[in-house]
Amino acid sequence: MENLISLVNKLQRACTALGDHGEATSLPTLWDSLPSIAVVGGQSSGKSSVLESVVGKDFLPRGSGIVTRRPLVLQLHKIDKGKEYAEFLHRQSEKFYDFVAVRKEISDETDRETGQTKQISSVPIHLSIYSPNVVNLTLVDLPGLTKVAVDGQSEGIVQEIENMVRAYIQKPNCIILAISPANQDLATSDAIKMSREVDPTGERTIGVLTKIDLMDKGTNAVDILEGRTYQLKFPWIGIVNRSQEDINKRREYFSTSREYKHLASRLGSEYLAKMLSKHLEDVIKSRIPGIQSLINKTISDLETELSHLGKPISTDAGGKLLLIMDICRAFDQIYKEHLDGIRSGGDTIYHVFESQLPSALKNLQFDKQLSLENIKKLITQADGYQPHLIAPEQGYRHIIESSLVTIKGPAESTVNAVDIILKQLVRKAISETVELKQYSSLRKEVEWAANKSLERMKTESRKAALMLVDMECCYLTVDFFRNLPQEVEKGGNPTQSIFDRYNETYLRRIGMTVLQYVNMVLSGLVNSIPKSVVHCQVREAKRSLLDHFFAELGQKTVSRSLSMA
Ligand code: GDP
Ligand code: MG
Repeated sequence: MENLISLVNKLQRACTALGDHGEATSLPTLWDSLPSIAVVGGQSSGKSSVLESVVGKDFLPRGSGIVTRRPLVLQLHKIDKGKEYAEFLHRQSEKFYDFVAVRKEISDETDRETGQTKQISSVPIHLSIYSPNVVNLTLVDLPGLTKVAVDGQSEGIVQEIENMVRAYIQKPNCIILAISPANQDLATSDAIKMSREVDPTGERTIGVLTKIDLMDKGTNAVDILEGRTYQLKFPWIGIVNRSQEDINKRREYFSTSREYKHLASRLGSEYLAKMLSKHLEDVIKSRIPGIQSLINKTISDLETELSHLGKPISTDAGGKLLLIMDICRAFDQIYKEHLDGIRSGGDTIYHVFESQLPSALKNLQFDKQLSLENIKKLITQADGYQPHLIAPEQGYRHIIESSLVTIKGPAESTVNAVDIILKQLVRKAISETVELKQYSSLRKEVEWAANKSLERMKTESRKAALMLVDMECCYLTVDFFRNLPQEVEKGGNPTQSIFDRYNETYLRRIGMTVLQYVNMVLSGLVNSIPKSVVHCQVREAKRSLLDHFFAELGQKTVSRSLSMA
C-alpha cells in the first residue's frame, strides 16, 4: 500500500509538471481524480504548524498575517534509513538537508510567482520530504481564509483566497483537514463553515483542534473532542503545536494531562499522521478503478490522436511523394463525399438551381425592351426604308434578342454562386482531412491548387452558360411563329407618316408575342443552365480537382530526380 501512495505522489508531481493543477477546465484532469489531503482554516489557526508537526520538522514559513500565499503540495516519503532531506519539483535533483533553507526556498519561490506583493497564486509549490520518520502522505497547505484585505493586497483577495481554497477542497477526492483553534469559538470557525459547504455529509472532513494549550484556564476541549459540541463523521483530533518544543513533549501534553488522559491514544500529531495515512490508503483503494479507467481512457485518446497524426515521414523523395498522394487522395475522397451528399454542404448547390436561379429568371423585367416605344423603334429601324408587308420579321428578331441578352445576368450569377459553394467545400474538406492536420504548408498548397482548379472550371462554365443564352439569340424556334394566329390586320396605314405607321393594338400584340417566346426560352434555360453548370463545375470538381496539382508535383519530382542523377 505504501507503494500505492508513492505512485500517487509521482502522478501528482507529473500533473504539476504538465500544468495540470486541477483547476477548472472542461476536461477531466488526472489531478482531480487523485486523492489528496488539504488543510483549510482561518489565518493563523495553525495549519502550517499542523503540517510541521506531522512531519516533525520546522520548515514552513510561519507567523502572523498571510504567510502561505501559494498552495504547497507536501509529499512525505518514508525511507528506510539515512539522513532526511527535502526536494522541490522546481529545483529537481537538488537535495536540501537544511530545513531552514527549505523554508527560505518556499518563501522565495512564492515571491517568484507572485512578486513581493501580498498577492496569491494558485500554482502549487511541490515539496517532497524523504525521511525515516514520516508516513507516506500527500498534504496540501493552503492560504488561510481571511475576513479583510490588508495593506498592499487587492480588494478581491478575500474572495480570491476563498475561491482557491474551495477549488481544492470541493474535489470529491480531497480529504479536508479542517483546522479550528481551540481558543476560539467553534461557531466562528472558517474551517467548519467552508468544509460544511463543500462536504455537507462530512464524509471526507477530519476536524483538527489546535491550540488546546492556549485555552482559558478552567476550560477544556473534551466536549469538542468527544463530538458533543459539533459532531463530525470522524472523531475530532486534538493537537498541540508548539514548534519551539520537541515532538515527544507534545505527546506528553496529552498523556500527562488529567483532562485528556482518557483520549490520549487518539490525540497528537503522531496519531494524526498515522490516521491520515490510513485514511488516504482507504480512499486510494476505493478510487483505484476510477483512476485506472481515467488513465486508460487518456491513453486511448492519445493513441487515437497519435494515429491521426499519421505515419512517420519517410526521408526519400519517392516516399514523400507517395505520402503526399495518399493525403491528397484522402482529401479528394472527403471532398467528393460532400458533393455526393454523404457529408453535408453539397445540397446548397441544389438550392441554387432550385430556387436562386428560377427566382432570378422570374424577376427579370422586360418592361424596357417591351415598352411600346421601344417596340416601335426597333420595328421601324428594322424595316428600313420599306415598311414590312406581312410580319415584322426583323423587328421581332431584334426585340427578342434584346430581351434574351438580359438572361446572361442570372446565368453568370448561377455560375458564381456554385463556385463559391465549391470553394467553401474545399475549406471544409481540408479541415476534415485529419491527415493534413500536421502538414500546414501542404494544407495551404492543396487549398491553393483546388481553388485554382475551381477558378479554371468557373471560367469554362461561364463560357458554356453564356453560350446557351447566345444560342437562343441566334436561332429562334420557327415552330413558335408558324403556330401564331395569322395576322389579319396589316401593320398600319402606309400613307401615314413613318412614325405613326403602327397603331397601339398592333404594337401591344407584338410585345405579348415576344414575351410569350421569351418565357418559352426561359423555361428551357431554367433546366439547361444547371445542366451546364454541373457539367463544367461540379462534375469536373469531382473528377479532377487535384489533377493539375498532381501533374505539377510529378514534374517537380521528375525534374528533381533527373537533376540529381
Ligand atoms: P496558519 O496561518 O494557519 O498556517 O498558522 P501557523 O501555523 O502559521 O500558526 C500561527 C501561529 O500560531 C504561529 O505562531 C504558531 O506557532 C502558533 N500556533 C499554532 N498552533 C499552536 C498550538 O497548538 N499551540 C500554541 N501555543 N501555538 C500555536
Ligand atoms: Mg500557513
